[in-house]
Amino acid sequence: MSPIDLRPTGTSSEAACERALAAIADVAPLNAVLTVTDARARAAATAIDALPDAERARLPLAGVPIAIKDNICARGTRTTAGSRMLDRFVAPYDATVVQRLDAAGAVIVAKTNCDEFAMGSSNENSAFGPVRNPWDHARTPGGSSGGSGALVASGAVDIALGSDTGGSIRQPASFCGIVGLKPTYGRVSRYGLVAYGSSLDQIGPMTRTVRQAGHVLAVLAGPDPLDATTVAAPPFEVPGAEVSVRGLRVGVPRALLASGVAEDVQASVEQALALMVAGGATLHDVELPHAAHAIPTYYLVATAEASANLARYDGVRFGHRAPAGTFTDLASMYAASRTEGFGDEVIRRILLGTYVLSAGYYDAYYRKAQQVRTLITRDYEQAFASVDVVAMPTAPTTAFRLGEKVEDPLQMYLADVFTVSANLSGLPAISVPCGLDGQGLPVGLQLTAPAFAETQLLQAAAAYEDARGSFPMPGRA
Ligand code: GLN
Repeated sequence: MSPIDLRPTGTSSEAACERALAAIADVAPLNAVLTVTDARARAAATAIDALPDAERARLPLAGVPIAIKDNICARGTRTTAGSRMLDRFVAPYDATVVQRLDAAGAVIVAKTNCDEFAMGSSNENSAFGPVRNPWDHARTPGGSSGGSGALVASGAVDIALGSDTGGSIRQPASFCGIVGLKPTYGRVSRYGLVAYGSSLDQIGPMTRTVRQAGHVLAVLAGPDPLDATTVAAPPFEVPGAEVSVRGLRVGVPRALLASGVAEDVQASVEQALALMVAGGATLHDVELPHAAHAIPTYYLVATAEASANLARYDGVRFGHRAPAGTFTDLASMYAASRTEGFGDEVIRRILLGTYVLSAGYYDAYYRKAQQVRTLITRDYEQAFASVDVVAMPTAPTTAFRLGEKVEDPLQMYLADVFTVSANLSGLPAISVPCGLDGQGLPVGLQLTAPAFAETQLLQAAAAYEDARGSFPMPGRA
């Protein structure tokens, strides 16, 4: 597949844009979209159609409709991050990824719903209501990039951007039956992304196919003077037409998968592994001895960073201000504004994060978490001494019901058990649909590769995808 496959063939960019806008309107009941950027989209599409053919042909995403998660700034568009705090925030500048999409000829058609400040695994923490999973409207699309996942799964657009701090691209991709790619930390600029956990956050593509994800990542990737954590990493290759898993050494952390994984999920993943073996890959047991501590480690690091990042929303510098009369002095104005602007989960995390960073507890919690983070990273380094990729389910279950876990944050946090390690260690990881469970809900296979080995990761994923064949869409199985 070449980049051309991403473009609407035989139609103008304007026609493709109109089709996407109409499809977005059709799937409004999913609540996947917070803002339709129709004026911006139409202007972009018209401009692309007006280009000379030769120039348009040079643009890798010419005329491709794309949706972006609403925690990514696009100049002149409302950017809420799913929070009442930013209900009326209109971004005065473009995120670097938006600039790069624009330069590649993409047409941004919508800003997608998400958990508030990207905190959640079910999209139920959005101040603008939950998103519904197109496979079953009573179920969650996953989170926090649930709107992007649902919109791509519905077929309204083929490509969306999400952000992944602890799994928010991969887990909704898994729940929605699409591909989700979290790049290596530093591969993609975070400039213009509403910050959650700065040492964990990465923006990445959510698409129908692995090669599409590769093409979009190629547009997004590369150093950015506006984000000092981006690096001039070796470029990667998007998989060509002929890829194979022959000789690929696939690590499987059997001990980690021994408990807590739904039977159907386990069975689909085993089938995927068998398919890879049939294609010439070999399976190897790998030990990730510290993976069991990944969830507590993640929720200490992420909340600590979130508490610092969210301090800026004080109703003065940024964000919602409580109405006059509800406070008496500066401190009570901050308190009133933040109480009104933030939802329960965000408040819970700010409290936890502030606590673990406080003078008396820093060593016991935050420092300890950073140490375990290093051990988790070393586990992977050791595993990659003898395997090329590590394979496991993306999530322990398929899409759960809306409302099922909202009352129990700890249960909700467990949905991230297989995804957070890649963020703690900075590694690239991808979720590829690998089957349906007994209820007809999609299962995701997660592959993880060494840092900056996106070439290897995408090739393995594409070869698996080719062997698997086409994957059904919701309602069309
Ligand atoms: N579910 C995780 C959390 O709530 C991951 C979120 C994310 O990746 N943005 O923190």
